[in-house]
Amino acid sequence: FAPWDDPDQTPLIRFENVTKRFGDFTAIDNLSLDIYAREFFALLGPSGCGKTTMMRMLAGFETPTEGKIYIGGQDMGPIAPNQRPVNMMFQSYALFPHLSVYENIAFGLRRDGQPKDKIEARVEDMLRMVRLQKFAKRKPHQISGGQRQRVALARSLAKEPKLLLLDEPLGALDAKLREDTQFELMDIQEKTGTTFVIVTHDQEEAMTVASRIAVMDEGRIMQVATPDRIYEFPENAYVADFIGDVNLIEGTATPSGEDEVTITWAENQQPIRAKTQRKLATGQKVFYAIRPEKVGISKEEPTDVVNKAKGRILDIAYLGNLSTYHVQMPTGEIIKAQSANTRRIARRPFTWEEEVWVSWNGTGGSVLED
Ligand code: ATP
Repeated sequence: FAPWDDPDQTPLIRFENVTKRFGDFTAIDNLSLDIYAREFFALLGPSGCGKTTMMRMLAGFETPTEGKIYIGGQDMGPIAPNQRPVNMMFQSYALFPHLSVYENIAFGLRRDGQPKDKIEARVEDMLRMVRLQKFAKRKPHQISGGQRQRVALARSLAKEPKLLLLDEPLGALDAKLREDTQFELMDIQEKTGTTFVIVTHDQEEAMTVASRIAVMDEGRIMQVATPDRIYEFPENAYVADFIGDVNLIEGTATPSGEDEVTITWAENQQPIRAKTQRKLATGQKVFYAIRPEKVGISKEEPTDVVNKAKGRILDIAYLGNLSTYHVQMPTGEIIKAQSANTRRIARRPFTWEEEVWVSWNGTGGSVLED
């Protein structure tokens, strides 16, 4: 049982019908969400969707206009920021420039008046964890951006918070370092058992690090699920489109039998046949979402696949391990198909303007309501 599937588990964090308004602008709109202990939870969404506001309310820097936030079952309403079992690591992880790496990590422990030997032991532990023992004496300007990020993380974890909030923690790092640091973060989260809530607008980052993701848009949650469910079973067109690459085909549904539906979409094209658990009305407008990697491409008409359409290659993106083809239907719709470049190709297998078939099976995609 994952904790979120277990009805007997109490969440560590609960947002209960939380609304946050700034003047007449609604930043968070009647939002409810449970996050469990030991999760690595990602708030994902475009700029301005309310991610940082969620974090600031958790930390106590903002107060909900309506609704309640609980941490460990306790209503946070009357609890001051410094009394909450929360630590927040900001995007610009503000280290003290005049203090050494060691002293930066020790800072909070000293301020709490902990005994000297205990502080020493804890800082050594933290330095080991982020692999910066050799850098203990350096000042922040004498280490790299990635190393500074690790110092900030060590400092945030030194006091063993139950909950660490990370607002775009890797935003300042370049792509390669960012990737490495994602794995380090996951490693550290697992070792310490701290609950991490991370804010990011980078869907790949969320997919990599998170146990679950909340996809947000305009102050609302569009879906909360594990990365694989979000990718394979998006609940709506917004999520399908926001996460990864997708064909979103607009059409009209005709339910046929228990869990089957046909979708009329383009003139002179065979309707799409799909499986769905949704109860749809005849004539209802729907979106059919299918990932490019689930769509095959061939010169000959495929005989063993239920969905197929003939078009012309408009664009080819060669990505090394695979190629993505944009195939345009005579009526203008474009379907993206992908094929793996498993063999070395002296010549591209398909060329621009070539007539090809795209095809996919009946369980490859999702039927989404408008
Ligand atoms: P980003 O990825 O750009 O940081 P975000 O998802 O974190 O975006 P928030 O910072 O939570 O977004 O802001 C959500 C919305 O609330 C934005 O439209 C923002 O302009 C607005 N907002 C945030 N703080 C305030 C404030 N103090 N006063 C007025 N509006 C605010």
